[in-house]
Amino acid sequence: MSIAENYQNIEHEMKRAILHFYCADKVSDIPDYAGLVDAGGALKLPQIIAVSKQQSGARIDEALAAGLRHFGENKVQEAQKHWAERKAKHDDLVLHLIGPLQSNKVKDAVALFDVIHSVDREKIARVLKAEMDAQGRQLPCYIQVNIGEEEQKSGVLPHELDDFLAFCRNDLSLDIKGLMCIPPVDEPAGIYFSLLKKMADAHDDLALSMGMSSDYAEAALCGADFVRIGTALLGER
Ligand SMILES: *Cc1c(COP(=O)(O)O)cnc(C)c1O
Repeated sequence: MSIAENYQNIEHEMKRAILHFYCADKVSDIPDYAGLVDAGGALKLPQIIAVSKQQSGARIDEALAAGLRHFGENKVQEAQKHWAERKAKHDDLVLHLIGPLQSNKVKDAVALFDVIHSVDREKIARVLKAEMDAQGRQLPCYIQVNIGEEEQKSGVLPHELDDFLAFCRNDLSLDIKGLMCIPPVDEPAGIYFSLLKKMADAHDDLALSMGMSSDYAEAALCGADFVRIGTALLGER
């Protein structure tokens, strides 16, 4: 299937999952408390970030031709290879860093990316802020939460979030827009998405970056603002 078809199918799947969950035939039947319908009566679907890591230039160009404009990469150097020239050609691209960040890559990351989804520790938050100041580029950021409290995963633990958020916002004046998570692989993702949603709601102004190829429909149902989709959209890596 083409990337354009995948793109359509994914949007359709997200919509279908929401209608199905609320036993609704049409968007106007979705109850208000779901928080998924905007003031104009339209369904609020997440913005799709096409995750282009390890994809060919041809696939990336096909995705651009299909109208995708938000792209995600998890490594700074690979992202430069994919996007330095393409960004100069398309001024409406939004590039998201979704992978862990090392201090020595922060300078290049701040120069290239538009949104950082992986702020996960004090040190990187400090270095990011200093570099943003130096470059005069205050990027919107997301705090990565280790929602399943897994040893091998990065992110702040759920009980650390309040302090870390206060540190980022009050001490550093980082522009924290929301929370990001990657749930444990072999468990149903929905409960983790609900948990992250609760944490975001507790701070009322936080958005949500959650959902990948295997679970984007559940993420949409839980109110994701961004879903990060690689293989289901661009094909196998
Ligand atoms: C690779 C990656 C994705 C996309 O994964 P798919 O399963 O291919 O959709 C999403 N988020 C992060 C952080 C990733 O590293």
